[in-house]
Amino acid sequence: MGDFNLTVILDAIRGSEAGLSRVELAQLVGLSPQTISNISRRLLDQKLIVEAGKEGSGPGKPRTILRLNPQGMYAVGVHLDPALITVVLLDLVGAVVEKRTFVTPLSHDPDEIVQAIAECVEELLAISGVDRKLVAGLGVAAPGPIDLDRGAVVGPPLLHGWVDVPIQDLVQRATGLPTTVDKDVTGAAVAEIWAGGPGGSESFVFFYLGTGLGVGLVLNGEVYRGSSGNAGEIGHIIVDPDGPLCSDGCGMRGTIGTALEPAVIVSEAVVAGILPVLPENPTARDYQGAFARLSEMVGEGEETAIAIMRRAARNMAWAAAVVGNLVDVERMVFGGPFWEPVAQFVLDVLPDMVNERLATRGIHRVGLSGTRLGEDVGAVGAACLVLERALAPRAERLLLEG
Ligand SMILES: [Zn+2]
Repeated sequence: MGDFNLTVILDAIRGSEAGLSRVELAQLVGLSPQTISNISRRLLDQKLIVEAGKEGSGPGKPRTILRLNPQGMYAVGVHLDPALITVVLLDLVGAVVEKRTFVTPLSHDPDEIVQAIAECVEELLAISGVDRKLVAGLGVAAPGPIDLDRGAVVGPPLLHGWVDVPIQDLVQRATGLPTTVDKDVTGAAVAEIWAGGPGGSESFVFFYLGTGLGVGLVLNGEVYRGSSGNAGEIGHIIVDPDGPLCSDGCGMRGTIGTALEPAVIVSEAVVAGILPVLPENPTARDYQGAFARLSEMVGEGEETAIAIMRRAARNMAWAAAVVGNLVDVERMVFGGPFWEPVAQFVLDVLPDMVNERLATRGIHRVGLSGTRLGEDVGAVGAACLVLERALAPRAERLLLEG
């Protein structure tokens, strides 16, 4: 790859649902017809694009449409979650070719987890029949905070013993694929831009409901990572100044992250007597199961369950309003491992709760929706990060070549 104009053209083709002719490309990206012609030839030779039929029935020569070649490149995405690990193989247009999930080894031993990931990747490649040489790399979406420079996971809640694990190096060594690491929320936001169809240059916030709460920020079509890759740690927004101490030791009280922790919500339901007592030393999966049961009760109209969830939704609305006031987005998207069970309830009550609290309520309404990518959004996002790094035009590429 390595050519800025080439990535600009590829990006333009990727952004158009129906594909583009060479003439349309020249107009869109402002390069000469000769340059467009040369670069299209190279992209066709590299099998990254294909000629997909001709368009135009009137007078004049019909135009050949250029489209991405789904089989031109692939990427592997791994979502590292304390309860469940998801591995996907994505093609160049962001479609899932193969997918596997497995329960995170209960030991939480990094070596054991990395070994299991590597075996799963080999299995996916073998079953899909995809040539290894066409795999651009492997992306890991991990719970934050992360050390982006070293590709290390730095003590996420619920991954016991993960104090400072250089996951990037470990996975790269085990799989032999060039590996990158990003926060799960960043991956989810990139997935929403990439695989969710042409999104244009809009701004949105991706609320990621995992073991912790975080957001991925997309401002004017670009994902915003912050100075160290850790932007979006909204779990520390205070929703109840007299609440319990924040579980991550920051010293603040009544933070949204703690209030919305599945463990905290589930305990409320246990104390209220509507859920059975959890086993001793509950795992992330125990919480996930209990949380799903509680969500079912909301659907069944259980009043205590509804009251608990309504309180959680109100806390969420306060935090969402703080974020919305700060970045003034068009949309708020929700997803993550704990999203599916609460989706319907949240989408019923939250849009009004949030919009009533936003400072811009008299100017525009912010749309709330669930992710279009379902429960695999973290893994898909991790693979999209690889494709983005390989393909997207970036300023540093221009500088290197200039
Ligand atoms: Zn905190």
